[in-house]
Amino acid sequence: MLKINEHYLQLKESYLFSEIAKRVREYTAAHPEQRVIRMGIGDVSRPLCPAVIKQMQAAVAEMGRAETFHGYGPEQGYDFLRGAVAGYYANRGITLDPDEIFISDGAKSDLGNILDLFSRDNTVLIPDPVYPVYVDTNIMEGRTIHFLEANQQNGFLPLPQDDTQGDLIYLCSPNNPTGAVYSRAQLQAWVDFALAHRSLILFDAAYEAFVSDGSPRSIYEIEGARRCAIEFCSLSKTAGFTGTRCGYTIVPQALVFDGAPLRRLWLRRQTTKFNGVSYVVQRAAMGVFTPEGQAQTRESIEYYKRNARCMTDTLDRLGIWYTGGKNSPYVWLRCPGNMDSWAFFDKLLHEAQIVGTPGEGFGQCGQGYFRFSAFSSHEDTQEAMARLETLLR
Ligand code: PLP
Repeated sequence: MLKINEHYLQLKESYLFSEIAKRVREYTAAHPEQRVIRMGIGDVSRPLCPAVIKQMQAAVAEMGRAETFHGYGPEQGYDFLRGAVAGYYANRGITLDPDEIFISDGAKSDLGNILDLFSRDNTVLIPDPVYPVYVDTNIMEGRTIHFLEANQQNGFLPLPQDDTQGDLIYLCSPNNPTGAVYSRAQLQAWVDFALAHRSLILFDAAYEAFVSDGSPRSIYEIEGARRCAIEFCSLSKTAGFTGTRCGYTIVPQALVFDGAPLRRLWLRRQTTKFNGVSYVVQRAAMGVFTPEGQAQTRESIEYYKRNARCMTDTLDRLGIWYTGGKNSPYVWLRCPGNMDSWAFFDKLLHEAQIVGTPGEGFGQCGQGYFRFSAFSSHEDTQEAMARLETLLR
């Protein structure tokens, strides 16, 4: 008789976004005259930039002619895109061999798939609050998870302690949901810890393009990281690829654990279970790395960052504690008056018609906190912040 993977039964219902949708639906049904502003979404609102569309359209035309048609491509990604990603890192002083770069259909898939390489006996260290994918993908495989408490005292940037344990360590900077960004010295502490304990850091750099104050954008800016870290990155938030789907994962040659080079294992895994990202999408992604593409994507990032500034200026005036928003599209705030996250959610929805994300949806340490995202339009962000100021002043 067929047996299922029993670990799937351990997963908690991911009720956060469905509960938000339910409460908003009920409110709008009762108050159809009110305009609700969504400040909680993690999806982008700006379209793909012209440099991306130009490449994509040229690739579509090639696919329609026998002489330029592309069938199966290399599982690891086309050379033109791996070369472009290597160039993107080289501009920041990081030398990567294109063989270390694996093109993906986004960071989420690879963050889950990478676990194929590791024994289920490994323990996992995950900060709390956190992007829920790290937790659920490990629960699915039955690994023991240790949570690392992020809080106001450590600025939501936890560091290794004397009793810290974990063979696999997840770090996300700039962070979702908190928007907090590790400094060079803090990341060095993690790299030193990983090297000393023979642990592997899984570094999620999905929001690196939002960093503008000189904080590290890649773990490979840190001495020793090539021997202890894999980096996951995505064009989703950098260039509006949430629906187009493209990212990349970097597995340095120097990563050798248990006698095995991880790059070779990952290549074997990908060539067995993955047939690559479509040619059209990889050409679109290459558009991001052209000089026009870089200038155009920067404009969208600046657009979102202006929204974030509008939010942080408002919170500054209201005297509300927050982190993020400076090098990140997320602002993570302390609910005023010691309200719990869902009480604050209801207050914002009912009294100001603003929708945000309750912090406890990202882990226990998120209780009492709240996430706003900067991915809406300027107009909506300004209007929402004006309403917030009227409500809480
Ligand atoms: N990592 C983090 C921290 C994210 O917030 C997200 C998306 O919200 C992802 C990864 C997934 O990105 P992708 O769209 O590339 O799968």
